[in-house]
Amino acid sequence: MRKSVVAIVGKPNVGKSTIFNRLVGERISIVEDIPGVTRDRIYSEAEWLNTRFNIIDTGGIEIGDEPLLVQMRQQAEIAIDESDVIIFMIDGREGATAADEEVSRMLFKSNKPVVLAVNKMDNPDMRDRIYEYYSLGFGEPFPISGTHGLGLGDLLDEVIKHFPEREIEDIDDDVIRFSLIGRPNVGKSSLVNAILGEERVIVSDIAGTTRDAIDTNFTRDGDEYVIIDTAGMRKRGKVYEKTEKYSVLRALKAIERSDVVLVVLDADSGIIEQDKKIAGYAHEAGKAVIIVVNKWDTVEKDDKTMKKFEDKVRDGFQFLDYAPIVFLSAITKKRIHTLMPKIVEASENHAKRVQTNILNEVIVDSLAINPTPSIKGRKLKILYATQVAVKPPTFVVFVNDPELMHFSYKRFLENRFREAFGFEGTPIKIYARQRK
Ligand code: GDP
Ligand code: GDP
Repeated sequence: MRKSVVAIVGKPNVGKSTIFNRLVGERISIVEDIPGVTRDRIYSEAEWLNTRFNIIDTGGIEIGDEPLLVQMRQQAEIAIDESDVIIFMIDGREGATAADEEVSRMLFKSNKPVVLAVNKMDNPDMRDRIYEYYSLGFGEPFPISGTHGLGLGDLLDEVIKHFPEREIEDIDDDVIRFSLIGRPNVGKSSLVNAILGEERVIVSDIAGTTRDAIDTNFTRDGDEYVIIDTAGMRKRGKVYEKTEKYSVLRALKAIERSDVVLVVLDADSGIIEQDKKIAGYAHEAGKAVIIVVNKWDTVEKDDKTMKKFEDKVRDGFQFLDYAPIVFLSAITKKRIHTLMPKIVEASENHAKRVQTNILNEVIVDSLAINPTPSIKGRKLKILYATQVAVKPPTFVVFVNDPELMHFSYKRFLENRFREAFGFEGTPIKIYARQRK
């Protein structure tokens, strides 16, 4: 089921990112500290009253050196295109400026639900001032304070009221959904064509064109798949489509709907920083990941070439150590047939559930091989473990004191779980929880 999307629009410095960070809350701070992964704080999940939605801080989408008004216009356009409900934010201490009025006219014309947030209303006695904002035409203005966290509840109540009726997508668990991400020109579109052109693939339906991507349903050897193609998206010729942050937004939305994400690299041009950043999004989303090294035809090879390239990939993408690497060429079709089996395997591992008794046997064995460490004279005790979720497989290990469970021991357990259960292609999560 597609989550509703909320976009925050407003001039610089009205407090958009302050509010964004508050709404997104812990989600961002728990993002693991992985070298090579930098988080762009423009798109994330938030939750209010058990409703989960995604939120975009359009202020984070920088659009070159355009003048302020042009940038704001484009940010408003993105919000109109990409979201279900728009929070239009103004600085209540400053009043509505000409730029605010221009943007409000654009939003007004879009017919999207707009909720007006008047920020920096830090004291209750400031609230009297908000009545002037009725004139913007968005109905009741909501006074909030980002720094003090005031008024957000009422604002979100209003936002949620405007969520569209849920589109019931087929949540058929037997269908494997995958997407391709990567910087421009690595060969994503070519690869989509190569996959769909494979002999054993029967394309059944190219109906599901969403505003983010083209979904193509196909079957192969009796298994059903959906390929989520953002690259092949019909281009609408809008200026912001070329910006990096916007393509990131697109990629994040595609990743979210996928079980398996193919991180596509270009053997011809090698690995660059942008590749790592894009791969980081897949990792953070907790999806199954396959690294695809495309354009393998362009590389002059001897018997060590593949190993050397693999080492380079492993070195550059240490956080994706669980992801298999597939070398292929979308153009010559060489080794294309090796891809689908990897997708199936990764997706199965991503959804794998292991039995509690077997899991605990692995724990007992692990403790025998590598006794738990002591910190300042206190020894970590592991009582038992249980799998609490799939997609990705998530484990809770009950211990005497979670503080004693260091990263290195967790890492050791992860490796043991991987050896025992074969989680190739999927991240796994391990949490330590206290039980006396
Ligand atoms: P953005 O450019 O719209 O994302 O704005 P920021 O979130 O970066 O905030 C701009 C400035 O306004 C920062 O210095 C914030 O600390 C400040 N600010 C944000 N919300 C409030 C608020 O509710 N009250 C006050 N007094 N300052 C705020
Ligand atoms: P996208 O922007 O990631 O969708 O990349 P495209 O699929 O549009 O491909 C970019 C360019 O790379 C095109 O000129 C393709 O013909 C070329 N290309 C894609 N895959 C291969 C490949 O496997 N080998 C070679 N030699 N060129 C490729």
